[in-house]
Amino acid sequence: MHDLIIIGGGPAGLTAGMYAARSKLNVVMLEKMMPGGNVSITAEVENYPGTPNIGGPELVTQMENQARSFGLEIKSEEVLSIEVGAGTNGHTIKSDSGEYKTKSILIATGSSPRRIGCNGEEEHIGRGVSYCATCDGAFFRDKHVAVIGGGDSAVEEGLYLTKFAKRVTIIHRRDKLRATKIIQEKAAKHPKIDFIWDSVVEAIEGTPAVNNIKIKNIKTNEITDFKVDGVFVFVGYMPGTGFVPSIISKDEGGYIITDKEMRTNVPGIFAAGDITDKKQRQIVTACGDAATAIKTIEHYNEWYFEDEQYL
Ligand code: NAP
Repeated sequence: MHDLIIIGGGPAGLTAGMYAARSKLNVVMLEKMMPGGNVSITAEVENYPGTPNIGGPELVTQMENQARSFGLEIKSEEVLSIEVGAGTNGHTIKSDSGEYKTKSILIATGSSPRRIGCNGEEEHIGRGVSYCATCDGAFFRDKHVAVIGGGDSAVEEGLYLTKFAKRVTIIHRRDKLRATKIIQEKAAKHPKIDFIWDSVVEAIEGTPAVNNIKIKNIKTNEITDFKVDGVFVFVGYMPGTGFVPSIISKDEGGYIITDKEMRTNVPGIFAAGDITDKKQRQIVTACGDAATAIKTIEHYNEWYFEDEQYL
């Protein structure tokens, strides 16, 4: 039986993997794609301590290499289900390639980009609609793109897109951004960035590629056509909990509820990073959660599986 299976390879999972491997736990990480999570599609990270202005892919590659250097095994497998075990039998994880028995599980599957949900969005993914400026920005050299959203992601990625696009229009549903002040100021001053306030996208149009969006002003209800070559959507994220059993408590947004030690309501199952119910979704908080979780898991495994009174 494994000591720990980590599900998900973003900053929380990689930090947990590093801590667990350093602690000589019998640990495996299962990640359905490449390790790195959303940070691997983030152009630049300027607020992770010690690494000013590092590219997201570079930062997570360093995290992965650091975790592997302590012996972390990372497997490319998608977890399909968790079977909650009884007593000291441990829990069972079923993936698309196998089955694992483990004393503890750390769920660190983060979140994935939320869709706007308007007409034409799905059909134009890859034809002008994107959720990743790092991946697709270069396709919009000298073009005009719209960025939807008013949070850190929208404004930071909007700034990144100015490297390629001739014009970036940030469309936000309110008249005030949610993003951190320093990046709001950078965007407000940027000659290639302009804003459309109090507005939502009603439809994305163009055959085959995007050439127009219909925008509705939510104060006046007026709908206008707006010519753009691309639409970058940053309207928040959805938790990746499809495989998580319903017995594990979640909040109304679907995020896993943990205590301060990163325990869920099910003994032996822990969660860390963006998948959890919390206000701050930063790389540094995800890493902090993970370090806390591993210390809790070490105590849990010793107490539950090695203390004679429980055997
Ligand atoms: P977010 O903070 O949840 O912001 C989402 C934005 O999209 C909000 O401005 C929201 O409007 C808008 N929105 C939501 N649903 C919409 C819809 N259906 N149509 C139009 N607009 C919609 O998401 P995020 O910017 O991706 O950030 C997620 C988390 O990661 C946050 O905690 C953020 O601080 C963190 N993050 C941090 C950094 C950094 O520190 N460098 C970088 C990126 C992200 P309202 O404002 O009206 O709600």
